[in-house]
Amino acid sequence: MVELDKLRSTAADTVSRDDVKYLLGWQKGTFGYRVSPCVVEKAEDTENLVFSPLCMSNLSTYLTLAEKLPVPKGEQPDDRKVALMVKGCDSRAVVQLLTEKGIEREQVVIIGCSCRGIVDLKKVGEKFPEPLDTVDVEWKDDKIVFKLPDGEQEVARDEVLADNCLVCQYPNPVIADVQLGDEVAPAENADDAGVKEIEDFSLEDRWEYWEKEFSKCIRCYSCRNVCPMCYCDNCVLDRLSPTWINRSVNYSENTVFNLSRAFHLMGRCIDCGECERVCPMGLPLGKLNRKLAEEVRKKYDYVAGLDPEEKPFQASYHPDDQEDFIL
Ligand code: SF4
Ligand code: SF4
Ligand code: SF4
Repeated sequence: MVELDKLRSTAADTVSRDDVKYLLGWQKGTFGYRVSPCVVEKAEDTENLVFSPLCMSNLSTYLTLAEKLPVPKGEQPDDRKVALMVKGCDSRAVVQLLTEKGIEREQVVIIGCSCRGIVDLKKVGEKFPEPLDTVDVEWKDDKIVFKLPDGEQEVARDEVLADNCLVCQYPNPVIADVQLGDEVAPAENADDAGVKEIEDFSLEDRWEYWEKEFSKCIRCYSCRNVCPMCYCDNCVLDRLSPTWINRSVNYSENTVFNLSRAFHLMGRCIDCGECERVCPMGLPLGKLNRKLAEEVRKKYDYVAGLDPEEKPFQASYHPDDQEDFIL
């Protein structure tokens, strides 16, 4: 378990360094189960930092969002490091960004937090409707404790954890300058990446399943915008000349959109679950991404976000790579 005092003192020491410009962390939100990302610049502000099953946001997204903005006219670039708190999956995003040369190692200070899983607010809401007052939520052995206004409630972790956390194989940061918390065991059901249920469908039923899901998409692009691995300056989805993907909201275009995104993330997605969490229409995007990650692992023995020295999956080739599916 990550101790808050240790987390806050580590963060205070980090932001006090001359070579660090700010720290990205999580702080209590303003209502209900909300916890917000925050930018901490002063040691005294680290007192607001938290680490709990509500720390959903993958903060590594900000490394390419905020840090790639043009420097305002007349100002000099600030080359100091950015510090950030990471869970296991977030740390894999940092590694994947290093692999792809999206960031450089010396640009970041990584505070790794061992993670026992974050909750899915839809699952929580079915048990305890969200109150107006802020609620503290904690890990306790195999349970999650909700400190609700009318008393504490304990729930088995498996009942409220996000789907990606139920199959997480990397709960401990794979890269860190400072590591906090005891080592957490990976999920036991490694062979079922949460996709078995759909794999068992007939081909027709599988098609019907995705047709129904893709038809719901409203093309809000939240899944792309929140994704730490979607950081191209010129995204194919935005390009109008040539127009690769039409912006019409209908089943056909939605399918092209969702499959294009899934294939662009094949061998890159680190299963942080952010796309599925923010989707307002509840598309099971994790199932799609995990299925592709499984195929890449089984066919090419490649898992994204583990080794910063590895070549990116889609930019590497081995003579013995499987290619029998190529027509
Ligand atoms: S996927 Fe793993 S590291 Fe990420 S929040 Fe879930 S349990 Fe934690
Ligand atoms: S977040 Fe959901 S609704 Fe929005 S574009 Fe992505 S899949 Fe479609
Ligand atoms: S596709 Fe979804 S799960 Fe994968 S890295 Fe992007 S936001 Fe995370």
